[in-house]
Amino acid sequence: MSESKPTDPDEAERSSREDYSRHQAAEPYRHRFGHLVPRWHEFNALYFENRLIVPRFSIAPVHPRRLSETRINTDYGARTNIMFSPGLMFGTDRRLVRTDDPDARGVIRLIDDRLLGEMVKQFVMEVHGSLEEGWDGYGPLYAREATRIGAQMGRADPAAELPEVHPRRRAFRLAGAPVAASWPHLFRPDGFYAGHVTLDHLWRRGRVRTGTRDRRSVVPGVYEYLHFLAATGRHARLLEVLGREVDAAKVARVPGLAAAERGPQDASGRALPVPPADPGWVTWNGGCVRAIAEGIGARRAFDGMPILADALQDAGCDSDLILNHCRAHTEHTANCWVLRLLGTPDQA
Ligand SMILES: [Zn+2]
Repeated sequence: MSESKPTDPDEAERSSREDYSRHQAAEPYRHRFGHLVPRWHEFNALYFENRLIVPRFSIAPVHPRRLSETRINTDYGARTNIMFSPGLMFGTDRRLVRTDDPDARGVIRLIDDRLLGEMVKQFVMEVHGSLEEGWDGYGPLYAREATRIGAQMGRADPAAELPEVHPRRRAFRLAGAPVAASWPHLFRPDGFYAGHVTLDHLWRRGRVRTGTRDRRSVVPGVYEYLHFLAATGRHARLLEVLGREVDAAKVARVPGLAAAERGPQDASGRALPVPPADPGWVTWNGGCVRAIAEGIGARRAFDGMPILADALQDAGCDSDLILNHCRAHTEHTANCWVLRLLGTPDQA
């Protein structure tokens, strides 16, 4: 226990900064700090035995591929500065935040997850006294603490358990293993953020590179078969056969993708019934919804899914399950349940 007397200038500075953040800072900063500060104390008690020192919080530009950062901070009495990207905190990054409600459940969950991720870093810095340089700050100590907390979450609620994470070396990727730098947000089940935020553009950072040595052996006759399809103009069939290969690789690479494509899920990943499709949607405005859906399926043009959502919405679809699936994910496969629902010929 630290001997913090009321006259300790560092402690006084910390409390006045905390007080300032929560009560005096300008809106909308105050709104966010008013959430972060008590949440930080809650996590400190729950996961870190109250061993962390109140950090300085700020909302300021961070690395473009990150949502938050922790830096050493020697001013204001704090030891660390936890920074959050304005794009997340103020909802200005529309690739990320898909709702106008700053307190939407999914937004708050992502903010809390980033806070927790940074607190693990804070723990490694303050308690272990290490920056884990050479690991970009996400080394074995970080992985160990994150794994410990993920297991603790699972003891409180088995559906909330997070898997073991591994440190990431700069020049080495553990094939197929989740990496610490993406913890915990990329380890959450599909639907955890309720479609209020989408993380697809961040996956590149946590994604594991399989490398060229991983090339699959080819069954004899396959090239001849593909050549036959190309030479005889069976392009749709060719795309389907190759698309299945691509889908298999995608499903192996993106956690939860296979389940998300199979059908709708609730926030904890349980399968939900497919909402009924109104026949009026596909006939609306000259059948443009079906045309878009078929075009996406036939050409594997999955980047058109958000446009499909817009058209569906204008056709009268108000199903959040359908609309969020189209908007919240950029990765889809030929097995996409929304495309199947709209009657696209995607099955062999
Ligand atoms: Zn899909």
